[in-house]
Amino acid sequence: ESLPRAWAAVFARTPQAPAVREWGEDTWTTYADLDRATRRVAARLARAGLRRGDRIIVSAGSSRRLVEAYVGALRLGLVVVPLNTAYTQREVDYVIDDVTPSGAIVDDETRAAWMARTGVVCGPDVDLPDGPEVEVDAVGRDDLALVAYTSGTTGAPKGAMLSHGNLLASSEAIRLAWRWTEADRLLLALPLFHIHGLGVALHGTLLAGASAVLLPKFDAATVVEAAAGDEMTMFFGVPTMYARLVDAPGVDALARLRLCVSGSAPLPADLHQRLADRAGQQILERYGMTETIMTVSNPYDGERRPGTVGHPLPGVELRIGLTEGDEEVLVRGPSVFRGYWQRPEATAESFTEDGWFHTGDLGEVSADGYVRIKGRSKELIISGGYNVYPAEVEAVLREHPAVGDVAVAGIPSAEWGETVGAWVILRPDAVGSAARPDELAEELTTHARGRLASYKTPRSINFVDDLPRNAMGKVTRAALVRPV
Ligand code: ATP
Ligand code: MG
Repeated sequence: ESLPRAWAAVFARTPQAPAVREWGEDTWTTYADLDRATRRVAARLARAGLRRGDRIIVSAGSSRRLVEAYVGALRLGLVVVPLNTAYTQREVDYVIDDVTPSGAIVDDETRAAWMARTGVVCGPDVDLPDGPEVEVDAVGRDDLALVAYTSGTTGAPKGAMLSHGNLLASSEAIRLAWRWTEADRLLLALPLFHIHGLGVALHGTLLAGASAVLLPKFDAATVVEAAAGDEMTMFFGVPTMYARLVDAPGVDALARLRLCVSGSAPLPADLHQRLADRAGQQILERYGMTETIMTVSNPYDGERRPGTVGHPLPGVELRIGLTEGDEEVLVRGPSVFRGYWQRPEATAESFTEDGWFHTGDLGEVSADGYVRIKGRSKELIISGGYNVYPAEVEAVLREHPAVGDVAVAGIPSAEWGETVGAWVILRPDAVGSAARPDELAEELTTHARGRLASYKTPRSINFVDDLPRNAMGKVTRAALVRPV
């Protein structure tokens, strides 16, 4: 079994049903249209010389044409390399050298020029000559579908090899867990070059025979407007989207949706609570990563517990640590990747002999089975021999009314190994207040000291206008301490 074959069954079952549309447009691509268009894409790419197993970069803003190009490439058996459209030429070069693709699908001329050396370069409308009909959906479970690069939050992005079986297993698990049906319509505001938008949102839509409305660029007012209509049933977002939505006028329109999901980074528990109060939505938080796609989710029915990511999905095994006191989350299951592209050592290091994958995240499981992610092991601060989780300190600082956003990281210290540092973005009204920075820092320190053990209390508080983030919008904590 493979995802393209499962999709082909959907195309045949509900040809007239809507599949994808762009926000602001009336025209739907139906499943019959998608079938036809993707066969044409496959024929054109094959005529251009691309063969099963060849890698092809796909890097473009969301559109119906992009969906057709992507699905067509997979149906032909190409290995798709989704690439962030915000990448600079240097970052693109790194990936081209690493993955040696035979072509690229991009939507602007500058990046088309950067990709020229890959071979066949075309737009999402696959502006290549038509070719004779080719066999599609011949890929099997173990064939590679994607080399998906990780976000590069803790180091250089690594190419995760995901098979067609991996993709199908994850989509099938969330389809069941989230009760995804043909009646659903997803407002899809996530980029289609990351596993969240691609592996969760798009793959799930097409497997369920549901529909998606593509919003190429997130903005809170549009999401509120879309939710206020009768059309949408679901919205998936990352925590920064929810942080903007919670203060948006009319956010109670989110209550009309059947399901709102958050992932890719921790959703602060207080934001979860504010969304429940203001938007009338109990956000469903889930956990996954490029290497494993989706593995853990809060329940659809039952308590969606703030600050937790819920239970392992059907088919996924999860354990904490290999030895007593080890807090690393390990997972095993059909959606776990086949290894890092051309990094046999990194691959060997990330799996145990019996196939458990080291996620690099720290966590714990409550007595009733809810998983809580405490942070990344690389970002754990060890101060005077004690463990400090940046997320815990950040949550406490975020409770203070002057704090707009905050990131916490360890600062090397001869005496303590590391001490706790906080980088704080003040709320606009706090910036305008009369309080001097040193007074505010003192106030935040007092606030933290009253709520945290002294070894967790920040020793330095720095006010900044921005936090360093990578192209996926995730805070790169290492860059705080060693500015780049
Ligand atoms: P890199 O591996 O290159 O450093 P990355 O880990 O950020 O980058 P992704 O695969 O996009 O790349 O992100 C997966 C990570 O995101 C997880 O390992 C975890 O740290 C974090 N994450 C995802 N969902 C959640 C969640 N609900 N709560 C907490 N952390 C999450
Ligand atoms: Mg990672």
